[in-house]
Amino acid sequence: MMSVAIDGPGGAGKSTVARELARRFGFVYVDTGAIYRTVGLAAKRAGADPKSSAEMAPLLERIRVELRYEGGEQRMLLDGEDVTGLLRTPELSMYASDVSALPEVRAFLLGMQRQAAERHSVVMDGRDIGTVVLPGAQVKIFLTASKEERARRRYEELRARGESQSYGEVLADMERRDGNDSGRAVAPLRPAEDSVVLDSTGLSVEEVVARIGELIIEKGKG
Ligand code: C5P
Repeated sequence: MMSVAIDGPGGAGKSTVARELARRFGFVYVDTGAIYRTVGLAAKRAGADPKSSAEMAPLLERIRVELRYEGGEQRMLLDGEDVTGLLRTPELSMYASDVSALPEVRAFLLGMQRQAAERHSVVMDGRDIGTVVLPGAQVKIFLTASKEERARRRYEELRARGESQSYGEVLADMERRDGNDSGRAVAPLRPAEDSVVLDSTGLSVEEVVARIGELIIEKGKG
């Protein structure tokens, strides 16, 4: 079994690349951002402050977060309800970023992420996969791109889904999330020492997939 960890800031292209690699190699794609977004949704619904351990810790005891696969697609369940389609909004991006800074939340979700990689070969994307969740991953990628390029990609992704944020708003949100994710005390966003840092600015999805695919094939031989 093999684990491929892809970490990096928002908009670097992690999910597109990870999903395509999983398809080519027959691995399971695990989107860990969706797991944090599900906890963010729980906070929003409960009216809990997503930055407060005092409010989030008791909430974590009450909610049930489940990761399922249906037809090869990851589904997120919150208290038995499939909430997958509700998670990719700018509002829940901020909720996810806020709850993810709390050590209680990270501890709560760690087992679920590790379990996913125990049963299948996975391509898992997130912020701390190579450093914390799967330190033994055979392939570790830190995928970046310039801030403007990442904001542009995210803006187009949102527009395609009918969300109405302006480019300026997307860029501002991205800077705030970058600051949150890199500056937090627990599991900050940083490349694992043994990761390959790949800057996708100016590269096509196919070029990035091909590059990481070579690394997976290399490791598979070893
Ligand atoms: O990747 P995505 O944009 O869905 O992640 C949403 C937020 O969840 C990120 O901004 C980050 O704060 C948090 N996250 C995290 N660790 C992960 C995945 C996501 O802290 N492994």
